[in-house]
Amino acid sequence: MIGQDLNVQMIHLAAADFINFPIYVGNLDYTQRMKPETLIFDLDDTLYPPDSGVWQRIGERINLYMHTKVNIPLAEVTRIREAYFHEYGTTLRGLQILHHVDALDYLSFVHDIPLQEYLKPNPILRSRLASLPQNKVIFTNADRAHAERVIDALDLGGIFEQIIDIIAIHPYCKPQPEAFQIALQKLGIADPSRCVIFEDSARNLRTARSLGLITVFVGSNGQFSGAHLRISSLDELMKIFKPDFSLTIRGEE
Ligand SMILES: [Mg+2]
Repeated sequence: MIGQDLNVQMIHLAAADFINFPIYVGNLDYTQRMKPETLIFDLDDTLYPPDSGVWQRIGERINLYMHTKVNIPLAEVTRIREAYFHEYGTTLRGLQILHHVDALDYLSFVHDIPLQEYLKPNPILRSRLASLPQNKVIFTNADRAHAERVIDALDLGGIFEQIIDIIAIHPYCKPQPEAFQIALQKLGIADPSRCVIFEDSARNLRTARSLGLITVFVGSNGQFSGAHLRISSLDELMKIFKPDFSLTIRGEE
């Protein structure tokens, strides 16, 4: 139910065509209320805090893989890894395109870390997610096996209906628009404006927003303001939902 609690006049704004539903003009801001049908969660550094140590450990494994398996000199690894990340979206895609690396071999190697040392069950997050009636899915540039291990480590089993992983969106990856389009297709989502995506990556959110999804930046670092909503961590997840599980976002002015 959109804007029923606002004594406002409904208009349509061409400037807000990025979302395909009415905009309401209130006294202060253009705001709109929507009831999402699907909640899409990034995995790493979104389901758990970025200071957990997981990503640092994965990064060390990526460096080791590049050096020992692809024979990239140690002194060059960091520069090349950053270049691939920016040029191809992930280090893996760069290694596949330029070095014909096998994706499954790479993914199993870099994610071979003792997750239980870094992640603990999160019963509060579990109960919050369970209380939300929407479909909940994972969309990650990692692989399904890693996603399932993270979910197990956090004790979030049974919460997510589907996992869209890097294999499912081959040959693309976030932040490429094609990756999101494939994900939406696999999820059977015809109307992106009914989806809310939670992400710690600004560039991924930019693509998501350009495709019409409702975007929530999850993170306390940086000054990213390009998302519809922002929370510092999933600890604040319930702050954005009203009791009827709708949420209010500001339209573009
Ligand atoms: Mg992430």
